[in-house]
Amino acid sequence: MTRIPLAVPDLTGNEAAYLAECIRSTFVSSVGPFVDRFEAMVAQASGARHAVAVSSGTCGLHAALTALGVGRDDLVIVPSLTFIASANAVAHCGASPWLLDVDEASWNLSGELLEACLEHQTVTRAGQVIHAASGRRVAAVMAVHTLGLPAAMETIVAAARGRGVPVIADAAAALGATRHGRPVAALGADLTVFSFNGNKTITCGGGGAVTGDDPELLALVRHLTTTARLGADYEHDRVGFNYRMTNLQAAVGCAQMERLEPLVAAKRRIRARYDQAFAGLPTVLPFPSSGASESACWFSGFLMRSTDAGLPGRVRAALLSAGIDARPFWKPLHLQAPYRDAPCTPQPVSEALWRRIVTLPCASSLAEADQDRVVSAVLAFFAEGEF
Ligand SMILES: *Cc1c(COP(=O)(O)O)cnc(C)c1O
Repeated sequence: MTRIPLAVPDLTGNEAAYLAECIRSTFVSSVGPFVDRFEAMVAQASGARHAVAVSSGTCGLHAALTALGVGRDDLVIVPSLTFIASANAVAHCGASPWLLDVDEASWNLSGELLEACLEHQTVTRAGQVIHAASGRRVAAVMAVHTLGLPAAMETIVAAARGRGVPVIADAAAALGATRHGRPVAALGADLTVFSFNGNKTITCGGGGAVTGDDPELLALVRHLTTTARLGADYEHDRVGFNYRMTNLQAAVGCAQMERLEPLVAAKRRIRARYDQAFAGLPTVLPFPSSGASESACWFSGFLMRSTDAGLPGRVRAALLSAGIDARPFWKPLHLQAPYRDAPCTPQPVSEALWRRIVTLPCASSLAEADQDRVVSAVLAFFAEGEF
């Protein structure tokens, strides 16, 4: 019995041909026609005017935060239920995340909680928003489009921008998503960052992109990612990074972007089939959806209703022994060693959610017969006991 993996890249388009073209042309490094083409494709698909391709989503977040002025001892508001890279990028700036709990329905940063925190826990001094308890500047707000479902950016942007605080969106896995019909980089954030890591719907092997509408801001991001070099001479005007995407990565990325629509459609179809198959199970809830947003459905799976802490592990073990890869999801950041002392709101939602999440095989190439095998194994597990 072959094992059904959680996710594998689908590289059946022009990936190999474009890579061979890189080798033939000797354009393998961070300048090349595929990089330019990839940036244009990502900008177009994400609804932004400009895109800067970078070597990873984490590097993109770091460069974006730096471009927005985040620096030593600042705070950046980040939801606690996210991949640790969101907060690592903040820490790489010498800043610290201020970890907010998430909204129960969307698993995203709550605009209402954000507004309440800014209103009651900060003061404005010399035009800066200061976290009252620590005296540190709140330099940015980072929303995360968890699982590819866009956060309620209208309320998040209104709360932040009303106070002069810039907004960055970690849209790592959200390319292809929309909210109120608008693509994900057109929801009001100053900068929106994507990842093209191997486990994302669209991959470059590794890679990322920073997108936005402001040409000066995006030029600054580009400058920062290329060692802050001025012109062709070895003249640099600040401490920059070497964060550019290579033409090899972009070659794979261009081939992937050519199939963005079918790949995202496959992810949505897989999600819909799981949701339908488990709709009658009293023991589980579907992953979040919203009438306002169309998710990119990066991962699929279910949320256990039971708070029995051992249960998700038993489900995963049962699936594993049936040859099915099922996994847990992000552990909130306020529970992680590097961020245990970061400022943080009470976290009833993130703490209640994370242990109960089970992710299931959801590669865009997942065959219906294999998905049926996953569904049968899940139904068999829940038919056996009382939960
Ligand atoms: C994947 C991911 C990242 C990191 O992207 P890399 O390209 O792996 O550096 C950041 N945030 C979220 C939410 C992600 O899912």
